[in-house]
Amino acid sequence: MRRLVKGVVVVLVLSAPLVWAAEEVKEYLNGINWVQPPVVTPGENGRPPSDAIVLFDGTDLSQWEGGEHWLVENGYAEAREEGIATRAGFGDCQLHLEFATPAKVEGEGQGRGNSGIYFMDRYELQVLDSWENQTYYDGQCGAIYKQHPPLVNASRGPGEWQSYDVIFTAPRFNSDGSLQSRAAITVLHNGVLVQNHFELQGATSYVDPPIYHAHSPREPIHLQFHRNPVRYRNIWIRDLMPPE
Ligand code: MG
Repeated sequence: MRRLVKGVVVVLVLSAPLVWAAEEVKEYLNGINWVQPPVVTPGENGRPPSDAIVLFDGTDLSQWEGGEHWLVENGYAEAREEGIATRAGFGDCQLHLEFATPAKVEGEGQGRGNSGIYFMDRYELQVLDSWENQTYYDGQCGAIYKQHPPLVNASRGPGEWQSYDVIFTAPRFNSDGSLQSRAAITVLHNGVLVQNHFELQGATSYVDPPIYHAHSPREPIHLQFHRNPVRYRNIWIRDLMPPE
């Protein structure tokens, strides 16, 4: 009896592929006529890919409003006097930049190596010397200021070059100014994921709770001056805004 049952099972298993093979194989087609993805030549070691807009190549800050106030030397730009902002506006984008907080450690907490990258002039990704430097977690390096701490602290030491690779999605607003969809941000800090598609609650501020106010689809990227001589180099961006 046992042998008989076993035999039946074997016959069923063996015959199944024969039945399938006899059927016509029909490929799944989704019906979408995709446009061929453009060819982009990748950059080596953090250098810009072929379709990137280079915002700072180490020689001048002519693409930045207020750039004349910063010191440019030895391939980097050092924060002085006031913040600088791109003359062009950006919405959805991929941004790469490198920064170094001062090698000479001065101050503590928020006073140590503070700068920041404001997407659309109002959403700050914090730059801070967070190497063995305590501060509130949603204000440390890699934080979306006062909204979300970094997932981990991937900071290098004072004076060392560090990188940010950011995917930013701009918020969308309805024609009456109400919010349609929130901004979102993904950040790699020195190649380590520190923000994973975090949806912002609104503009970042030291004094005000986050809130959205409608703004144009493209706004400048602002680099903060917070009284610390933070350095930047190799800044490039890929414009990801869908064609209007
Ligand atoms: Mg800051």
